[in-house]
Order: sequence, then structure tokens, then C-alpha cells
Amino acid sequence: MIYFQSLTQNELSELLLPLSLDRLGRRSRLEESELLIKAKKQARFHAQQIYHWVYQRGVSQWEQMSDLSKDHRAWLIANLEVFRPKVCSRQESPDGTVKFLWEMGDSKTVEGVIIPAAEGERFTGCISSQVGCAMKCAFCVTGTQGVERNLEVHEIVAQVYELRQVSPLTNVVFMGMGEPLKNLDNVVKACEILLDTDGMNFSKRKITVSTSGLVPAIAELGARVDVSLAVSLNATTDEQRSAIMPVNRKWNIAELLKACREYPLGSHRRITFEYVMLRDFNDTPDDARRLMKLVVGIPSKINLIPFNEHASADFKRPSDETVRAFQKLLVDAGMTATVRVSRGREISAACGQLRSAVIARESRSSDASQGLSAVTSY
Ligand code: SF4
Repeated sequence: MIYFQSLTQNELSELLLPLSLDRLGRRSRLEESELLIKAKKQARFHAQQIYHWVYQRGVSQWEQMSDLSKDHRAWLIANLEVFRPKVCSRQESPDGTVKFLWEMGDSKTVEGVIIPAAEGERFTGCISSQVGCAMKCAFCVTGTQGVERNLEVHEIVAQVYELRQVSPLTNVVFMGMGEPLKNLDNVVKACEILLDTDGMNFSKRKITVSTSGLVPAIAELGARVDVSLAVSLNATTDEQRSAIMPVNRKWNIAELLKACREYPLGSHRRITFEYVMLRDFNDTPDDARRLMKLVVGIPSKINLIPFNEHASADFKRPSDETVRAFQKLLVDAGMTATVRVSRGREISAACGQLRSAVIARESRSSDASQGLSAVTSY
């Protein structure tokens, strides 16, 4: 069985081709090439129909696709399946944030979140690209889990499909669990599927891939698919960045920013630099001034993210005054700098927190069932 969400429209059309050829019937060798052209056209049309049903109308049962022939529905039932991950946990916050923990086919779990903007016109789906993460960023819960595996294309696309069953999504960000550029092939293909105008039809400006700084893969991403880039910067000196992001020991800030300068941005587009603000670590006026100098000449915006405190890290959240003062320095220097409003504070909002809680709970119940004392792993 093939998962539908792993297929581009062209791949689906190739799979449907034998069916179209059979239906047209081959009468003589002379007719062959003409027939093939006709069959390809038909297969493309049916692929488009099926894409519309699944991605635009949200239908996942082949039997319900009433304008498909019986043959096509039978073929779909026998060969393709719309992947629906199991919901292990769903948490809703009064501000409208909805967080899911899904179980993939092999019982591995990942998180996805719907984040509504305060003005109610933007709904961002934040999705995962890996089960866990190997990058070990010191401020991140997911970084404490290690990586178990990359997500497959269908598992990435299915997260967006599931979130769209709950809410209209205007934006998709690869900022959930995992380093997307460590799973580049699958992330690129998933982006192509999300961009398909007959499918979910996201604009390239509305899909953002975020990286912790895998420098060679940044250029490859830019060469392979046209989407927006976000970079998790979080520090203004190599010493500081290496202390919280081990990736910086391999590719330092200068190399990272060079890759950003060379990233192919379309017109009117900017790179987003994410800056998690950690009290007394990277939140001083000197940090703000160094930040301005670092990104000079790069069409960019700075997204300041006051640290969301959790038990896996000792960092503290800076005061609101400190955050505002930092932002003001950037804005006064002519930069675009926004402060991410903390959404979903009432639920396990930090990336990886929900999964960690479930893992800890399972660990406790399995230890209890073995007669051991409960273990707290976070
Ligand atoms: S911040 Fe992102 S890249 Fe860093 S450990 Fe967490 S999930 Fe991985």
C-alpha cells in the first residue's frame, strides 16, 4: 500500500496511467503513440481530481469521490491510502492554540501546533520534520530527546492535512521537532506537495523552513525549492552561540551569515532570524548592537522569542522591559523586529514539551508496572 501523501501529482498521474491505457484499449500498433498521449492526459486529469478531493475538500475515503469511475475507486482502494496519524493527545489553550501529539505508523510520536495570530487572520501550522532532534540546542526540550528517525514525506504532509481538518491554515512553518535540513530530501518533496496549486496550494511565501544552521544544506534547500528561510540565531558571538548551539562549533556565525547572504530570496522576501532571549545571557543592549551589525545587508526581520521556561533547561525568561528595550534598539536602527507573543502558555507550549511529558508518563507507568519507583525524566 502506498501512502497518498508521499506522491506528487506527477507521480500519482504516472501510477494512474496503466488504468487509463486499459480503459482506452489498444487496437493497433499504429494507434499506440496517439493512445499514450491521450492516456497521459486522462491520467493527469484524474490525478488532479483526486488531489482536489483529498487536499482541497478534505476527503480521505476513496468511496466518497463521486466523480471518479468505479474502476478508479477500486484501484485507489487496492493501492493507495490517505495516511491519518493517530491523535495521542490534543491540548487547547484559551488563546486558540491547539497542540497535537500524533502517533505515526511505528508508534513514534511527534508534535504539531496550530497557532492563531492575535488579529485572527493568520493561522500558522507548526510541524515536525524528525522524531526528536540531534542538534542539542541547550534551551530546547526536543534537544534533550535525541533523534530517533527522520519523518517520511507522507508523515510530514499528513501533519498539515490533519491541522487543516481543524482550522484553515494560512502558513506552515517547519519549526516543530527536528532539524528540517537533516531530512532535506523529504522536506523538499513535502514542500513541493504543499505548494501544488491543485493540492493545498500554499504560497511559497507562506512556507518557512527553519534551520539551526546547517550551512551546506541551506544552499541546497535554496537551489531545490522556493520557500522562505528562517535561521535560529540566538546569539551574537561564536563563544555565546557555541555554548547553547553545538552546531556553531562546526559552522560558525560568519559561515552561517554568508550562507544567508547567498540564499536565493525572491523579490520582497526576507530571511527571518529567530532570537530566543535568555535572561542575562543574550539580552543586553550590547547583544542588540552586535545583532544589528551581524545582519547588516541581509534582507531580514528579527523575531525575538522570550524564552518559554521549562524544567529541561535552567535559563530564565527576560523581563518584558528588557525585551522591549532590546526590540527598541533594533527598531530605532531601522530594523524590522517583532516579539513573538507567547501562545498556548496554558498548555505544554515549548516544542517537545508535550512529547516529553507523555514519554515521562509512559516511563513512569511502565516502571510502576515493573514494581520500580516512578521515574521523572524532565
Ligand atoms: S531548537 Fe530545533 S534544532 Fe535545536 S534541538 Fe530544538 S528542535 Fe532541534
